[in-house]
Amino acid sequence: MSDVTPKRKKLYIETVGCQMNLLDSELVVGKLRNEGYELTDDIGKADTILYNTCSVRQHAEDKIYSALGRIKQLKQLKPELTIGVLGCMAQKDQKQILKRAPHVDIVVGPGQLARVPELLVLAKEQATPQMAVSLPRTAGSNETVTASFAEYDPIREPAMRPTPFQAFVRIMMGCDKFCTYCIVPSVRGPEQSRPAAVIVDEARALADQGVKEITLLGQTVNSYRSVDASGRTFRLSDLLERLHEIEGLQRIKFITNFPNDMTDDLLQAVRDLPRVSRYLHVPAQSGCDEVLKRMKRTYSVALYDDMLDRIRATVPDAAVSSDFIVGFPGESEASFEKSMRLVERGRFKNSYIFKYSPRQGTKADTLFIDDIPEEVKKRRNNDLLVLQTAISQEDNRRLIGQNLEVLVEGPSKSSKGVAVDEIGQFSGRSSCDRIVVFEGHERLVGQFVPVTIEDASGVTLFGRVVTMDLVAPRA
Ligand code: SAM
Ligand code: SF4
Repeated sequence: MSDVTPKRKKLYIETVGCQMNLLDSELVVGKLRNEGYELTDDIGKADTILYNTCSVRQHAEDKIYSALGRIKQLKQLKPELTIGVLGCMAQKDQKQILKRAPHVDIVVGPGQLARVPELLVLAKEQATPQMAVSLPRTAGSNETVTASFAEYDPIREPAMRPTPFQAFVRIMMGCDKFCTYCIVPSVRGPEQSRPAAVIVDEARALADQGVKEITLLGQTVNSYRSVDASGRTFRLSDLLERLHEIEGLQRIKFITNFPNDMTDDLLQAVRDLPRVSRYLHVPAQSGCDEVLKRMKRTYSVALYDDMLDRIRATVPDAAVSSDFIVGFPGESEASFEKSMRLVERGRFKNSYIFKYSPRQGTKADTLFIDDIPEEVKKRRNNDLLVLQTAISQEDNRRLIGQNLEVLVEGPSKSSKGVAVDEIGQFSGRSSCDRIVVFEGHERLVGQFVPVTIEDASGVTLFGRVVTMDLVAPRA
């Protein structure tokens, strides 16, 4: 028997887009590590390069096509290199990717990720590109299409997580809302809720691995609904109750919410379960009814306002955040002003603001002309952001003097590279998802610590750890 251990293949992976993509990458890497790969962050040393892609906006796709352009030469110099395009853009562009970048070896949609290891082998063996994508939404019965978007939640990979003590848990796949601007229902397939028992088992396994905070993921996470073998229905509030019982889990978050489904039972669960984060991300997209109608968001501004009132009445200390699209077709100055007014009324913790980006294959792209000039989109984006930042800063400053419980995530952005056993600037998040920066010690990473807030900007709170013993190194 040879005592030479086979050389581990080096894998480089880049992920763009949302948390769902970060989770998918974690799972793909977990699988490939079991197949003998090891991660590298040096693209030049990689045997396999994977891009896990996003197609929500044009900009995200452009980024990947230019990355593929850049590595063309690398492949010429190193023909044994394997290149893969995974995720939403793979599902959307399919063969077009191979036309634009013939040096790509595998194209795998988000509903086929389990096949990545097998396709990497096939691409080499057959010396020809391999593609695995799911069916288009109109290709057959809902069951047939759903079956082509296979559930993919295998073993977890601690090394790929944002931190060893935080993890994402998918509770829903796909989306059936079909907002007119959005590509997600086509590329991530029909809405499916995972069984509650499977989610609870996964969360328990993560807690056993030392995970303290989980973030439940779904495109419309509060529409979650599953029925168990005994016929019992689980809503998100029921699931939260179950997860809350798991020993070791100290914080539970969930994103992204849909306004129509922000039911009172859910708000009561957030109020009554102390380990559930006081944070609700619930995108409005626009403050104008006519625009919402053209977006097919299925709620009115009045419903959204009422939802905000219910949130504030039930969980007064909850932070709410939102998404807005500016420059949607036909958005007049008056319509845009209504979004500005909603931001004023909503007092969001923060808002993610996007310029409308036409997506081929969506209803908005066929029905409407992208008629708002780029400079107008830019100006509206900026105006909304300036207003939101001023509001965030005002509300953040109200927290000065309060003590917040912070999960310490690591050295703050400005002080990366703090040596172990050194005091430096650290950052973490409060239960209401606010970023808190404070002077701390490496050994606080992964701990919940009380921090007194002393100053605040629009995006960050600055504070001091309440017990100085926690900061000073042990004698
Ligand atoms: N499911 C979530 C929801 O309904 O709020 C959002 C998912 S989407 C990946 C994230 C955000 O991207 C959306 O809330 C929306 O603001 C933005 N978005 C989606 N499609 C867009 C488009 N075509 N142009 C600009 N922004 C877009
Ligand atoms: Fe896209 Fe609308 Fe579904 Fe969110 S709810 S993923 S915006 S279609």
